[in-house]
Amino acid sequence: MRGRTSRRNRGDRRTRTYYPFMMERDTLTLVDVQDDIRATFGGKDGARGIDGTFMWFMEEVGELSAALRAGDRQERLGEFADVLAWLATLANIAGIDLTEAYRQKYGQGCPGCHSRPCTCGSTEKP
Ligand SMILES: [Zn+2]
Repeated sequence: MRGRTSRRNRGDRRTRTYYPFMMERDTLTLVDVQDDIRATFGGKDGARGIDGTFMWFMEEVGELSAALRAGDRQERLGEFADVLAWLATLANIAGIDLTEAYRQKYGQGCPGCHSRPCTCGSTEKP
């Protein structure tokens, strides 16, 4: 699995250096995160499907809530990582490129007022 993904990544991104593990990189992009999650869990994630994966994602969001309320820094680091990983998994299964999604919605500032920083009223959602 990893070898096949490694060859694919080298072929797809000729200008980028491929590192087999995140720990070896100085910076990460959303593409890196989605690729890494796919290489690590892609087979299991595809079999589980969107519904089962969404349940895991929501469970991790709950654990992040608990860590923010009462956890220490190390616990918060772990829960943020879990939420990001499960979000990347959901995006992979749904065929969504998180970079494209983020750029489309937030690439020109606030989606409500189209400013940066946001000038929406404090009672509005953004
Ligand atoms: Zn705004």
